[in-house]
Amino acid sequence: MANGQNIMQKRRTVLVVEDNEMNREILCELLADEYNVLEAENGLTGLEQMEKHSGEIALVMLDVYMPECDGFAFLERKCRDPRFDTIPVIMMTASNTVEDEIRCLELGASDFITKPYNVEIMKNRMKSLIRLRESSAMLGRLESDSLTGLFSKEFFYHSLEELLKVDADAHYDLVCSDIENFRVMNDRYGTAYCDRFLRSIADEISGSLPNLLFGGRIGPDVYAFLIGHQEQNGWTEHLLPDGWQENHGKITIKFGIYTDVDHELTAAGICDRATLAIAKIKKKFGTDVAWYDDEMRNMQLREHQIEQTMERALSERQFVVYYQPKHDLHTDTTGGAEALVRWISPEMGFISPGQFIPLFERNGFIINLDFYIWEEVCKELRHCMDEGLPVIPISVNVSRVDFEVPDLAADIAVLADRYGIDHALLHIELTESMYSDNPGQIARTLAALHSNGFYIELDDFGAGYSSLTSLNTLTLDIMKIDMSLIRQAAATNDYSILRFATLLADGMRLKTVVEGVETAEQVAALKVLGCDYIQGYYFSKPLPPKEYEEYLAAHCGKESA
Ligand code: C2E
Ligand code: CA
Ligand code: CA
Repeated sequence: MANGQNIMQKRRTVLVVEDNEMNREILCELLADEYNVLEAENGLTGLEQMEKHSGEIALVMLDVYMPECDGFAFLERKCRDPRFDTIPVIMMTASNTVEDEIRCLELGASDFITKPYNVEIMKNRMKSLIRLRESSAMLGRLESDSLTGLFSKEFFYHSLEELLKVDADAHYDLVCSDIENFRVMNDRYGTAYCDRFLRSIADEISGSLPNLLFGGRIGPDVYAFLIGHQEQNGWTEHLLPDGWQENHGKITIKFGIYTDVDHELTAAGICDRATLAIAKIKKKFGTDVAWYDDEMRNMQLREHQIEQTMERALSERQFVVYYQPKHDLHTDTTGGAEALVRWISPEMGFISPGQFIPLFERNGFIINLDFYIWEEVCKELRHCMDEGLPVIPISVNVSRVDFEVPDLAADIAVLADRYGIDHALLHIELTESMYSDNPGQIARTLAALHSNGFYIELDDFGAGYSSLTSLNTLTLDIMKIDMSLIRQAAATNDYSILRFATLLADGMRLKTVVEGVETAEQVAALKVLGCDYIQGYYFSKPLPPKEYEEYLAAHCGKESA
């Protein structure tokens, strides 16, 4: 739109090439109110003007017969120069013969006017020629990628969607290509070389694809090609010309193919599927072609199915809380438990949280689910109190998204109070990585939770993003040491990092829980290090409520708090 307006408003420059001085002056005067006018008295000075004002001139008004260099000679020279080739020329003739006209047209002239001219007609022809050239230049710019000559991304998407609308029964495949380590290549060989490479690759792939309809450059080094659907797979062996790899040594091009594209998808969605396939073979030596396959389709379908059913599942209480005991090394009894959600779906079966929590964190549903879990935990604690079962603290997990709820601490307090639960029985587990998101708000909410009497546990300590800053600024009570640390220590028989973590916790007056403990040797080593609690399969897997209660009855002193 902005470009369109510019076309209408900008003052253009025209060049008048005419040997008759009076004619030239009249013409220049006529045009001066709308154009910047340049003059030349013959073809030679005309070409000099073109040279001097290259890029400015929007149109040439050219006399045919002139001394020194006539209109034909001017046209001949002009059409050989790519800078001037597309500038429209209107020929001005006194008495035109058919032969002259044909010759001018062959040399690239756009139009004729005969002297004496009708000023209105002349001006209109000038205007429409200028507009035609400028809008087609703009269209060309939008349609094609100047480097490779493939469609631009926008035009590729547009063309793809238009084509899919035309014939619902037509079958197409989408092929995406991606140059591995292109950035490294750019640094090593320089932009000029890489630009040439990009161009040649676009040509080579285009040349080798069967039934190619069109291709586009959809990323700096990512191309997409739409081809007619291929029934057999053999064609992918010739995506690059024979001998290409031998000539290009270490350069690798990966291809992702999405066959029989779904007409209901957007162009971006279609390209995503092909690039998802590429992502699967990134850095995989020896595999250069991947299909968007059943496994990927199933994963997407499953996510879709999960999103379709999650709300009903929650209202039908398909989410069940399992409890994993935490063993207190000082008293040798069960000192607490962690609530871990499981989804028992009539359609999809038993689903572990790794499959749906990340998705719920992306779509925000985790807020609803977690609130439900916290309430289930309050009910369980209430149940234990009412039935005279041992009552020990239960920790719940919170996600970063939960902290976007404005008054999280107050909400949890109201919930606990509704079931008459001592706040000290509810622990909140959060991971350190959450802290980097919105440190101010997280720190405030934690402080509010803490002053409300809830305990705060720092989950997954040592899992990769530990920063000692968070230890210093957050109100914490317990440090949960990530299971990767005990695993590594046991494998190398080197407990120095674990020792450091427990010393650090000690210095900060934090209790420690070590997660993922599976063997008696690990338990013994942790005892020596002075850890406080152990959680892991060695003592128990996460248990459904009934079994958890039985476990409590067997492993806890009565009414221990
Ligand atoms: P997490 O909080 O680090 O939970 C510990 C995970 O380790 C659990 O996996 C648990 O079953 C597993 N685990 C415990 N002991 C052992 C062991 O000895 N060996 C091994 N290999 N694994 C052990 P799970 O239940 O699949 O939970 C995965 C993650 O999902 C949790 O990691 C937590 O981040 C998240 N999650 C689970 N329930 C909830 C929930 O209700 N709300 C939120 N927001 N996240 C949850
Ligand atoms: Ca946890
Ligand atoms: Ca953990």
